Amino acid sequence: MVNSVSFKTTKSEQIFTAAQKLMPGGVNSPVRAFKSVGGQPIVFDRVKGAYIWDVDDNKYIDYVGSWGPAICGHAHPEVISALHEVLEKGTSFGAPCVLENILAEMVIDAVPSIEMVRFVNSGTEACLSVLRLMRAYTGKNKIIKFEGCYHGHGDMFLVQAGSGVATLGLPDSPGVPKSVTADTLNAPYNDLEAVKKLFADHKGEIAGVILEAVVGNSGFIPPDAGFLEGLRVITQENDALLVFDEVMTGFRISYGGVQAKFGVTPDLTTLGKVIGGGLPVGAYGGKKEIMELVAPSGPMYQAGTLSGNPLAMTAGIKTLELLQKPGTYEYLEKITHELITGLLDIAKKAGHQVTGGNISGMFGMFFTGNPVHNYSDAKQADTVKFGRFHRGMLERGIYLAPSQFEAGFTSIAHTEDDIKQTLAAAEEVLNSFS
Ligand code: PMP
Repeated sequence: MVNSVSFKTTKSEQIFTAAQKLMPGGVNSPVRAFKSVGGQPIVFDRVKGAYIWDVDDNKYIDYVGSWGPAICGHAHPEVISALHEVLEKGTSFGAPCVLENILAEMVIDAVPSIEMVRFVNSGTEACLSVLRLMRAYTGKNKIIKFEGCYHGHGDMFLVQAGSGVATLGLPDSPGVPKSVTADTLNAPYNDLEAVKKLFADHKGEIAGVILEAVVGNSGFIPPDAGFLEGLRVITQENDALLVFDEVMTGFRISYGGVQAKFGVTPDLTTLGKVIGGGLPVGAYGGKKEIMELVAPSGPMYQAGTLSGNPLAMTAGIKTLELLQKPGTYEYLEKITHELITGLLDIAKKAGHQVTGGNISGMFGMFFTGNPVHNYSDAKQADTVKFGRFHRGMLERGIYLAPSQFEAGFTSIAHTEDDIKQTLAAAEEVLNSFS
């Protein structure tokens, strides 16, 4: 474990300086930049279990987990050895392979809303495809999404979006024509009345509602009691579809996602992250009657050269097999609860106003004393304080998402000792500023 005195990131800095001349902002995804916390991103060399090592050989306990997929810990030996075996047979067939059936069956068995599934290569693709399907099935164009929720970088979703858009404080993105977002309606998360009003104002025009059923992209925000149930009723009353974007929460909040945990079944679901076990995979699925509209069984076109490739399917299958072991989600809940209650406790004792929580292996803490029910509440949090906290933790070997507006993730590889070390670091950092 490094401490703040010995913390050196010389090689990281050199590599990142070079990267900035080669790629916009030096990164291939904006959330990786340290824009909102200051300093430069750390350049990684390798990952294993709960840990990452940077190019200067600093070791960190990792609470980003590649933004969610690493729920079994990085580079799990069973995943890696299965990948080695499959690699020998080739990387992509562009034709059916039996591994697709295996992962499809696992997903269908686990996720209550999914009777049929289509694999794609990212969460963005899954959300773009599901949007087309919502419109194709209902014959209506408008959709309701929620402020601060992120559904990938598709044009129609880049209105008051979360994740990097929130972190960087960007206006809605240039390059997205107004005509494309004219059909995107926004409501505050956890606000059923706002949703009812949108349905009343746009009677017969709304294809459906899409949401992060537990929000991770404005920081961690759980649904208020009755919110998901209320959306189910309102969408049914208005002949509209309910879509859970479980790209982040699928197989994380519980094996069957938010929908299994909260007992509310949407019509369609998007998945990503965990189901690819660290390789690029997304998926969308739902009622058979709706999914059969997708080409080639139906007219709604959607395709992918690398979709369902054997490597990605294998990493997904192995990861889900590992998650099926009894006690997985109980363990994630236990350590993550210990972590977040410990952090909140230490922060409060150090005189900071904080709020936060966890469900299973997903957590978050905001530097505000007020409860956070939606994106506007989240924006009240003190991002300068978060920046100091982030930097102090980094210098003590704890890698947190470089933004107040991102959830944190644990894995089954995190030990009680990792949590203790994290809390010991937090004790120092949170007492070092006011
Ligand atoms: N939906 C949600 C809820 C997400 O969290 C993300 C990614 N963070 C996406 C969609 C987009 O997924 P990807 O980055 O794989 O395109």
